[in-house]
Amino acid sequence: MTQSLRPVHVIGGGLSGAEAAWQIARRGVPVVLHEMRPQRSIAAHRSADFAELVCSNSFRSDDASGSAIGLLHAEMRRLGSLVMRAGDAHKLPAGGALAVDRDGFAAAITAALEGERLIEARREEVSDPPLDWDSVIIATGPLTSPPLAETIGNLTGEAALAFFDAIAPIVHRDSIDFGVAWFQSRYDKTGPAGSGADYINCPLTRAQYDAFVDALVTGEKTAFRDFETTPYFEGCLPIEVMAERGRETLRHGPMKPFGLTDPRNPDVKPYAVVQLRQDNRLGTLFNMVGFQTKLKHGEQVRIFRTIPGLANAEFARLGGLHRNTFLNSPRLLDATLRLKAMPRLRFAGQITGCEGYVESAAIGLLAGRFVAAERLGEQPSLPPPTTAHGALLNHITGGHLETIDAGPRSFQPMNINFGLFPPLGGAARDARKQALCARALADLEAWIGGAIPHAAE
Ligand SMILES: Cc1cc2nc3c(=O)[nH]c(=O)nc-3n(C[C@H](O)[C@H](O)[C@H](O)COP(=O)(O)OP(=O)(O)OC[C@H]3O[C@@H](n4cnc5c(N)ncnc54)[C@H](O)[C@@H]3O)c2cc1C
Repeated sequence: MTQSLRPVHVIGGGLSGAEAAWQIARRGVPVVLHEMRPQRSIAAHRSADFAELVCSNSFRSDDASGSAIGLLHAEMRRLGSLVMRAGDAHKLPAGGALAVDRDGFAAAITAALEGERLIEARREEVSDPPLDWDSVIIATGPLTSPPLAETIGNLTGEAALAFFDAIAPIVHRDSIDFGVAWFQSRYDKTGPAGSGADYINCPLTRAQYDAFVDALVTGEKTAFRDFETTPYFEGCLPIEVMAERGRETLRHGPMKPFGLTDPRNPDVKPYAVVQLRQDNRLGTLFNMVGFQTKLKHGEQVRIFRTIPGLANAEFARLGGLHRNTFLNSPRLLDATLRLKAMPRLRFAGQITGCEGYVESAAIGLLAGRFVAAERLGEQPSLPPPTTAHGALLNHITGGHLETIDAGPRSFQPMNINFGLFPPLGGAARDARKQALCARALADLEAWIGGAIPHAAE
């Protein structure tokens, strides 16, 4: 039967493309895997191997009963992931984290893919997938080569493809102190989808504001890499750059206090206000409006926890600004990651708006399963939203809110975190995490019906 099936073309042999190709071949569907290295390489990569890790060698926590990324590891193992098989085979001592020997890891993936008879590896750059490729996965990552990026930009419209992320921190709502913060929209405006009380507001006195500005200016920043020419746009400057421009700049920008009244202290106007806006449909995550930053992660936690109401804030994501090619996926992709405007094209990996090695591989895994099902004449089956795979997919294809009011596009890449899961009430935070993990693993089993799906033995 496989003889008569036309191949699926996977463009990009990174973390997501490698996993996607593996999943497709394991279902008996032929694949052509196009990877431009070593002929062509952009900045971060150094080798000709598939699934090269471009920076750290950590897959982060491996705790499947209390961490969202550990849960994703466990689910991927259960789904026969090649990336997890190679990671486990090449792990290094790293406490509770899964760290891998990067060369051994990439060599194992390369050998597995090159040894798989249904995969043909072609070392070439693809700039424009030919029309006779009727099923394509584009998995070219955050550093997609410019000619292909241009093709994608033409297909999706310029504004729908970003080349830099501008990430503001995201806070778990249940870690915000509502004895200090309050819900209110500026001037109680309702907007198209709002209630007049859509933002969480954290008030600062003059002394607190001055100390905060000083901390931003002196805080340690991350440098840009050589391939990242400074991508500042006046509309979304890093908060510390604004602070450096003048002591009052933030008060007249993202921290302006106008139109906001603390209900517990209505006669005293705050000197400045930090606003947080709902980030996902579940209402579990809120982003700090206008707080994109190049401060180091440790500095962000230290400085942002000095904001009244955020003393115990738990961050689902910290801020950043990087070269990063990614789509406005909630608008452009359907539930199985196909481009709505051209369904023969599917996307996978970081270009869809997830972040991280493991997350990129997980989305490759799903794209591979979806495309293989399609080729075999089956209906692709979506993972339950309660699983880590389902939660991540949902962030990409629909769970994220565009904006409550008019404003720039707000979809930004995200690591897996518990704020993306449908919440469970009651219990203390740690017990809740454990319950979310247990529910996810049980629902994953139900989804795969107890079968071991094409295991990466
Ligand atoms: C500099 C940098 C550092 C990062 N550090 C980390 C980190 O420490 N930890 C972490 O978890 N995540 C990190 N990331 C984030 C990200 O998760 C990884 O980049 C991850 O590898 C993304 O997987 P991917 O498969 O989407 O893309 P990639 O792994 O980058 O794979 C894309 C592949 O497509 C190929 N390609 C591109 N264009 C074409 C084309 N037109 N034709 C054919 N092939 C093409 C590329 O050569 C590459 O092999 C980092 C990202 C960058 C840019």
